[in-house]
Amino acid sequence: MKVYKFGGASVRNAEGVRNLRKIVGGERGLFVVVSAMGKTTNALESLFEALRRRDRTAAAELIDALRRYHAEIVADLWHEPRRIARVEEFFGELTGLAAPAPGEPDDAELLYDTVVSYGELLSTAIVSEYLAFAGVANRWIDMRRALRTVQRHKDAEVDIEASAPLLRAALAEEPAADLFIGQGFIGGAPDGTTATLGREGSDYSAAVVAHILGAESMSVWKDVDGVMNADPKVFPDAVQIPELNYLDTIELAYSGAQIIHPRTIKPLQNKNIPLYVRPFGDKRKPGTVIRGISSPVEVPILILKGGQVLLTIRSRDLSFVLEEKLGAIFALLERYRIRTNLVHNSAVNLSLCVDDTWHIDEAVAALREAGFDVMKSTDMELLTIRGYTEELFLRYAQIGPKVFIRQTTQSTVRVVRKR
Ligand code: ASP
Ligand code: MG
Repeated sequence: MKVYKFGGASVRNAEGVRNLRKIVGGERGLFVVVSAMGKTTNALESLFEALRRRDRTAAAELIDALRRYHAEIVADLWHEPRRIARVEEFFGELTGLAAPAPGEPDDAELLYDTVVSYGELLSTAIVSEYLAFAGVANRWIDMRRALRTVQRHKDAEVDIEASAPLLRAALAEEPAADLFIGQGFIGGAPDGTTATLGREGSDYSAAVVAHILGAESMSVWKDVDGVMNADPKVFPDAVQIPELNYLDTIELAYSGAQIIHPRTIKPLQNKNIPLYVRPFGDKRKPGTVIRGISSPVEVPILILKGGQVLLTIRSRDLSFVLEEKLGAIFALLERYRIRTNLVHNSAVNLSLCVDDTWHIDEAVAALREAGFDVMKSTDMELLTIRGYTEELFLRYAQIGPKVFIRQTTQSTVRVVRKR
């Protein structure tokens, strides 16, 4: 068995879906994980916000736009408009999702998951139907039943042990089938509700599927030639890296490289499954392979992670932050699901570069409540250079008015700077 994953950009239009068909068409023994088409997840996030505001007009308009977008792709694929039963059903459900009535407990994260999961449900319904139409027999798998998550919403982890029998049972329902189409990014929580795995989580879904099925390999089909040493949009001389090992990849993903979702590697590493990052446009190109052992990376790697906030935390009684308070601070951040990307400390200050998320202000308030002075600088970014050269160091890591923190080791320099 092999696992292929197609991201939203690869299936953003009919041409993409046709190309997917070309890639999977001749294969046997394949599980295909598909993301939501194009920018659908962003649109669904806007829908979620409209529902939260109880703005029914905006919600109806957003659903309409999504309906038109998907209908256009379908009409292009079939060369005429076509009703697909599952697609109709999902739009019906989406329309039926009302904002919680006043007085009803409103669980924002549950509503979020319920709404945004429809992107993948729609894309896989269309892809599966089109493949069948184009002569590629396949089976649509409902990942809400095949992957069991922990009881958490918006950023749930998959419970692999609980999922294994569920996924296997789903595949065994039709013993002759050997091509499966499943949604990335979604699963089912123990309480029966839908859970999502965090933005860009489809890679993680695919890795979990590969792990459970003991796949020989996993391939992520992308609109780039492979993994680059930097984002070419930000750093013009970016080059492709032919091979990476799992550990370096985790480091890169953690630093913000948009190669793959940071949780993807562990399930693969456990079973030593190689991960190929391959160009969607050309099946013959080698792409990048990620596995246990690889030849060393010869070029510096530059990663810029935006959307950061710098918190500088000091205990009001000036007790040494590090020794006495560290555990309490991190426990509190964990409670508000704040992800820390860089830690810097002095005798009385603890500086944390964290993702700017929904709950950041609540976390800051709670820290203040707990006796800390907290300074919050927004609009920050974190630049990481692995294997830096003197030239790169001089160019990017000089302390100046915009650089708030710099950390240097023998091989890596990290800079927290104002955008
Ligand atoms: N559709 C989801 C997102 O855009 C998951 C994914 O693409 O991996 O975040
Ligand atoms: Mg996506």
